[in-house]
Amino acid sequence: MPIDNDGVMIILSSPSGAGKTTLVSLLSKLDNFEISISHTTREPRPSEIPNKDYYFVNENEFKRLINNQEFLEYAKVFNNFYGSTRTPVINNLNSGKNVLFDIDWQGADQIKNKKLDYRLVTFFILPPSKEVLFERLSNRDMKDKLIVGERMKQFEHDVLHWINYDYVVINSDLEKCYEKIYSLIKAEINNGSKDYDKDYIRKHVEKLTS
Ligand code: 5GP
Repeated sequence: MPIDNDGVMIILSSPSGAGKTTLVSLLSKLDNFEISISHTTREPRPSEIPNKDYYFVNENEFKRLINNQEFLEYAKVFNNFYGSTRTPVINNLNSGKNVLFDIDWQGADQIKNKKLDYRLVTFFILPPSKEVLFERLSNRDMKDKLIVGERMKQFEHDVLHWINYDYVVINSDLEKCYEKIYSLIKAEINNGSKDYDKDYIRKHVEKLTS
């Protein structure tokens, strides 16, 4: 049974380009919210700060962490490994901090299946349309521009995982999307009523995949 004073685990996943990283960073500014900083074997992007955005490690180090069973979850995404180490997450939760995860559906599934003694809320963020997604992916840095097509194709697969999340939120407007997620987190933490229309989401997914 989760203990009332413990923090809550909050997972945000989305197909690449739906704006999840910005949302996680905004939520982390709230009192008592911490981001789980992932390890990855991917090369840093020019804008990224090591040990803040990610712990950038090579494959040997990543495998060592796997063998030492240090990961709460890990997965291969776009040919690179990504994982969340257990100790900082558990320490934060035990000291009452809510922990935000910016991880993909594979990691979300692993954490869900662990059935840990902490409350878990999962969000899947979707773009308003395929056109907007294409535009957002095309506006990223040069290296990513080359793989826009690949990520658009990946989107078709990733979007199907929406069904395994507690909430799906559409990111048409960053501010509104943030407010929606924040109000759902507050409602979850305080056992309040949740303003959520699953039918509307189902129809939106149908549009995105047609
Ligand atoms: P990016 O390379 O664009 O930063 O991230 C690619 C994908 O990997 C994103 O969907 C992101 O959420 C996911 N990701 C980042 N860190 C982790 C992690 O620790 N575990 C898992 N399973 N996915 C992660």
